[in-house]
Amino acid sequence: MELTVDEEHLGQPESVWKASGRHLELEPLTWLPSRRVIVVAPHPDDEVLGVGGLIQAALIRRIPVKIVAVTDGEGSHPQSHAPMRFDLASVRFLESHLALRRLGWEEPEITQLHLPDSKVAQQRVRLDEALEAILKPGDLCVAPWRRDGHPDHDACGEAAMLASHRVGARSIAYLVWAWHWADPEGSDIPWDHCRRLDLTRRERARKRWSTEAFRSQTQPLGPEVEDAPVLPSPLMRRFWRTYEVYVDEAART
Ligand SMILES: [Zn+2]
Repeated sequence: MELTVDEEHLGQPESVWKASGRHLELEPLTWLPSRRVIVVAPHPDDEVLGVGGLIQAALIRRIPVKIVAVTDGEGSHPQSHAPMRFDLASVRFLESHLALRRLGWEEPEITQLHLPDSKVAQQRVRLDEALEAILKPGDLCVAPWRRDGHPDHDACGEAAMLASHRVGARSIAYLVWAWHWADPEGSDIPWDHCRRLDLTRRERARKRWSTEAFRSQTQPLGPEVEDAPVLPSPLMRRFWRTYEVYVDEAART
């Protein structure tokens, strides 16, 4: 599947997801005592778009959180000639750091793997080794769904699930791009395994403010077509919901 995202390909409108009422049927995500929460982010923004509410809930419970930044996100605008394009790795790290601070995390702990953006699948051995070295028994690993639809997300999702299994950690998955291509009425998403985490008003407000830190993705890098935002504002609405959805493959209704 080719994932196309631009002003003409805005994917499934949030109003359709809302009207489907799918989220209303989901059981709540159960918190099991976790040693740490390890959030696997293929690109610097996924950790907040997908997991910004759960990170806050973990911090409130005083559970240590660590972000594993798999790539630096340097490949978000491959055709752009805008000056910022050549500095995206450092720009996006700073955006992620600011966004995590906006969630109320004073000193975000981020481990960068520096794998090449858009080529994570070709680096699976390095990814597997890194995740196995980081994860410990009793951790909760939160990674993209292995069928999210972006090759880096899918590779991270599968690697995280298998590494968690090997070390004895629990793993759950978040969705980013599946909200773009999936059909609410269909069976693209494994609804039986989906769980909902409701956000408090405060958590939701903080998450929204936090997502506004990702200016290199939500604003044009320059005046040309190639500089267009990767996350135009209609897409961002998916990440401002009152809840987050997680795929828990070990659970079933
Ligand atoms: Zn991503």
